[in-house]
Amino acid sequence: MENQRGKGLSFARRIYWPRIIGLGIGGISVLAALATLALPDWIWGLLLFNGLIWPHLAYQLSARSAFPYRAERRNLLYDSLLGGFWAATMQFNPLPAVTILSMMAMNNVAAGGLRLFIRGTLAQCTGGLLSWALFGPHFTTLINPLQIYACLPMLTLYPLAVGMVCYRLAIKLSEHKRALSALSRTDSLTGLLNHGSWKDLLHIKFHKCRQQQMHACIALIDIDHFKAINDTYGHIIGDTVLRHLSNELRRNLRHDDLAGRYGGDEFCVILPRMSQQQALDIMERLRRVFSQYRHPQVSELNVSLSIGLAAFDAGFEDPATWLNAADQALYQAKKNGRNRIASNDANGYVPRSQLA
Ligand code: GH3
Ligand code: MG
Repeated sequence: MENQRGKGLSFARRIYWPRIIGLGIGGISVLAALATLALPDWIWGLLLFNGLIWPHLAYQLSARSAFPYRAERRNLLYDSLLGGFWAATMQFNPLPAVTILSMMAMNNVAAGGLRLFIRGTLAQCTGGLLSWALFGPHFTTLINPLQIYACLPMLTLYPLAVGMVCYRLAIKLSEHKRALSALSRTDSLTGLLNHGSWKDLLHIKFHKCRQQQMHACIALIDIDHFKAINDTYGHIIGDTVLRHLSNELRRNLRHDDLAGRYGGDEFCVILPRMSQQQALDIMERLRRVFSQYRHPQVSELNVSLSIGLAAFDAGFEDPATWLNAADQALYQAKKNGRNRIASNDANGYVPRSQLA
């Protein structure tokens, strides 16, 4: 409900300035068209109200409403009703009448699509009929130069204002789209890539390695006995450890290395343009740094990592085979006693580091 109200309010705010400009300068073209006609005095009061007071009143009505969006759409129909009224009162003097009716139609399409356009057109017709009921049906084709000039601000400035609003909206929309897309690729706890997006990148890197005969390694990194950490110290401490590992990954990797959270306590890294030896060195540094972690509230907490490393091999059929090699290496690291690295050497899975 609050969210709905917020959206309605921003809709009302978006329309506020274009309405001030549109009705202000539209009032000039109406005034010029009505000036040559004999009309009762209250018409001038109504024109003044419509051009200068109504935009502010309309905004207040929306802002104070429990349903600002609905209130603002109603205001747009009042705009159209009055637009139809002025067009008929100026005896459908072609240039000013078409100017204000078409600008209002553009407004309605921009704000509410075909539905609001149709309802707006009906409101314009109702306004026109109201004027005919008061002053009788009249048409004129006579137009003087002043009336032509009086239409020019509306014809030039108002589309500019509406265009500006639409442009800002498009920019905001693309920002939201980008933020949403980033969110859908990110693991919410650690801020690293999530499982799906990391795997998408693995596909891309795999094919790049194949085409360009590029070196690259992937690593699967798993926290040892993480379940026991959760069980002993609680999930909040467990989450802190996960976040700490993600921070260490950011600190210890290069800018174009791709780190993700594979799931649970397992992390994954792609190290492009890196030989197996270089990757081993980096992972060894990570393993060591991570094992020195001291939690501020749980000083007795000890953590360690098991890491499975797989260098790209031209013989791999697909990315899954490459990933499987890293998984096998991780399995070996766990099997050989944890807190170590194993890699897919030509000679089999070789543990590369000993217990610290
Ligand atoms: P091993 O040394 O063999 O890796 O043992 P382990 O206990 O680390 O492995 P296991 O896969 O049994 O445990 C992973 C645990 O991670 C189980 C699950 O409850 C926990 N876990 C998964 N996601 C989260 C999370 O987001 N936060 C926390 N705190 N725990 C999580
Ligand atoms: Mg684990």
